[in-house]
Amino acid sequence: LVSADLNIPPAPALDGMRHLHSGKVRDLYEVESGEHAGQLLVVASDRLSIFDFVLDTTIPDKGEILTRMSLWWFEQLADLVPHHVLSTEVPAAVRGRAVVCERLDMFPVECVARGYLTGSGLLDYDATGEVCGVALPAGLVDGSRLPEPVFTPATKADLGEHDENVSYAAVAERIGADDAAHLRELTLAVYRRADDLARERGIILADTKLEFGRSEGRARHAAGTIVLGDEVLTPDSSRFWPADAWQPGRTQPSYDKQIVRNWALSAGSGWDRSTGAAPPPLPAEVVERTRGRYIEAYELLTGESW
Ligand code: ATP
Ligand code: MG
Repeated sequence: LVSADLNIPPAPALDGMRHLHSGKVRDLYEVESGEHAGQLLVVASDRLSIFDFVLDTTIPDKGEILTRMSLWWFEQLADLVPHHVLSTEVPAAVRGRAVVCERLDMFPVECVARGYLTGSGLLDYDATGEVCGVALPAGLVDGSRLPEPVFTPATKADLGEHDENVSYAAVAERIGADDAAHLRELTLAVYRRADDLARERGIILADTKLEFGRSEGRARHAAGTIVLGDEVLTPDSSRFWPADAWQPGRTQPSYDKQIVRNWALSAGSGWDRSTGAAPPPLPAEVVERTRGRYIEAYELLTGESW
């Protein structure tokens, strides 16, 4: 699939930046000159994707909310793991929703930690009793807390493809046993820290996806250092559940695009998923409630007001 199939609009031209890639939500550029020449500018758009469709309707401020949340988390985690953020001084057109980052040699692994069972983990468990080769106790249901957090890696899919859950052994084979062990250890450490922090604020971190890369030694870290990249612990990469509503055995309410998914699947939307067509534009009320949900998550987690 190419961008057009995914309904990704052309990335805006930015002075001094060379466009490299647009994903479903973010646009990547290379910084062309100055102190950070050769490094990356990651711009979070207000785009939202559900069921792998990028919607025509955007959510105002979503890019900025998620960027600020991610920056906040990088700081909370700084003593656990080095991160890729270099600067928030960015072109005016994208201020607040873009970050200059160290360009890393990314590991081809989505590093997922799960403390609770849902989503693709639940599907695998229902089929096999395991998730990514990790055997789990019998009798777990949607939303069950796991005996302890587990590392459930996935392979990074190409644009438009689904990620695929893989075993730890498959990761070790792909990137080497030492790096695999290191990524697992870092991922679980980040999950534990973040879950503790979120829980103090009434939020369960059900699961999260991290991406790491290796430093080439041209910015802040020594060459070879394993560095946390991408965005971290946002509602696009993680499942956050209000702790007081947690009730295993059903879909949990969550601080993400669930409002949009529910609306799209409701009779009122007029969308028939089976046709393969994109969902229709969102009503203003759904946009506003979704924006409110992101802001609520930001405020609860960081303790800052939007
Ligand atoms: P999608 O998320 O739509 O499936 P995607 O993951 O390719 O597609 P984005 O998440 O929008 O697109 O873009 C972020 C991309 O940048 C990812 O491929 C991610 O691995 C990569 N990336 C993130 N941080 C860094 C970094 N510090 N150095 C190099 N690449 C990075
Ligand atoms: Mg991505």
